[in-house]
Formats: sequence, C-alpha cells, structure tokens
Amino acid sequence: MTAQLVFKRPRYLKKTVFHYCPGCGHSIIHRLVAEVIEELGIGEITIGVPPAGCAVLAYDYFDVDMGEAPHGRGPAVATGIKRMLPDRIVFSYQGDGDIAAIGTAETIHAANRGENITVIFVNNSCYGMTGGQMAPTTVVGQESTTTPGGRDIKRDGAPIDLSEMLALARGSVYIERTSVNSIKNIVKTKKALTKAFKIQMSGLGFSLVEILSPCPTNWKLSPLDSCKWIDETITQTFPLKVIKDETIKTEL
Ligand code: SF4
Repeated sequence: MTAQLVFKRPRYLKKTVFHYCPGCGHSIIHRLVAEVIEELGIGEITIGVPPAGCAVLAYDYFDVDMGEAPHGRGPAVATGIKRMLPDRIVFSYQGDGDIAAIGTAETIHAANRGENITVIFVNNSCYGMTGGQMAPTTVVGQESTTTPGGRDIKRDGAPIDLSEMLALARGSVYIERTSVNSIKNIVKTKKALTKAFKIQMSGLGFSLVEILSPCPTNWKLSPLDSCKWIDETITQTFPLKVIKDETIKTEL
C-alpha cells in the first residue's frame, strides 16, 4: 500500500514557526492565502503588504515579495505598488485596528477609486498586539482592557460596519465577510479569497474579504470557546455574508 500525501506546507509559506498565540486565526488565514496563491499560480508575481499589529511579521512567513506599510496605510502602499507594477498581484493584509481606525481614510478612498488590489481584513474585534484595547469593531458589551465593564454604546459609540461602508464606495467590486471559526467557514473563506484574487487578476477592481478571527489571548477564552463566541456573539453584529458582488454577470 502506497502512502498518500494529504497535507503539506503551501509552497508560498516559509519554513518558519509562527509567533501567533495558540488558537489565533492569523495562522489559518496565512495558510489559506498561501494555498490560494499557489493554486492560482501567481506566487512569482504576488506582492503582499503586511500591517502594523499582530501580523506585522507576515513578511517573515509568506514566501512572496512583501512591502511593509506604516500603520493603516496598507491600501495606499498597495495602490502605489499596483500602479507602478500593474502586472503584479498586490494584496494588503490588515487587522481591524489597522484598517478600521487609523487606516479608514486610505481604505475608503482606495475602494472608491476602484484600485485593482485585494484587501484581507482580519477582524478579531480588539487591538490584539497592544494588549486587547477596544477597537472600532469591538462589539457592544464586549470587555476589553479599555472597556472593563463592556463596550457601552452611549459612551463608546457603536461598532463600525466598515465592510458595509466600503460596499457603498462606487469602485468596490466584491466584499464578503467570512470566518475561520469552523471547518465549514474555513472552506468558505478560502473560496472568498480565491474569488477576490481572481477579480484582481481579471482587472475588475477593488476586492476585500473581511475574516472574523479568534483572539483567545485577549478574549480570555480557550481556542474552542473563542470559535463558539464568534458564532454566538460577533456574528450578531457582523453577519457572515456576501456584502457586495458586482461580478454576477462576469465569467471569472
Ligand atoms: S494577541 Fe490575539 S490576534 Fe494577536 S497573535 Fe495572540 S491570539 Fe492572535
């Protein structure tokens, strides 16, 4: 009986140990992005733009060209790279603190201009790297180090629906919200990432996948309970769905 290979390291992930906490969604998302890049055959022409935040070291993990962006400026840096090198596939990889707070303006304007880039928006509803402070995406009632009694809508405002806002931008083509909290949702996330990259390969414009991602360390939950908490709590504020798809009539 011959052995069958059922699992291997994707070609475009380096043989480096991740620094992410146990149960962190970044590890799964990195793997999915690397698998999609390999399956689409674009590894030699892809340029990634990592963020400030927990994924700041993504340039040590992806085995493609990478260009680090200052905090929140991923879409601006990706725009510059794509405009100078239009034959490359360019993606930014950003957390919610990065994209939905300091980077709001860059993201909205890149979407509105219809830049032909792909944005991967990892939403774990807090500032992960700096210790779990309230982020714009922290849900009402969620405890954080700066909202120990839970987010209060009267005091702190409501969580920001960044993806829904970006769907209103005239130049955005495809926006979907997924999660990596279950096998089923991981499979859906990979499909969404594949579609987002294909949109860029077809020159159609701005694509973004928001991925709800567990942060067991700052949520103070086990990895398993973090996955359940996404289903029970986070998706009540940020439902999983295709938010905008202008490709319906297009053969990708
Ligand atoms: S702090 Fe949260 S987001 Fe950051 S690596 Fe740890 S689990 Fe992941």
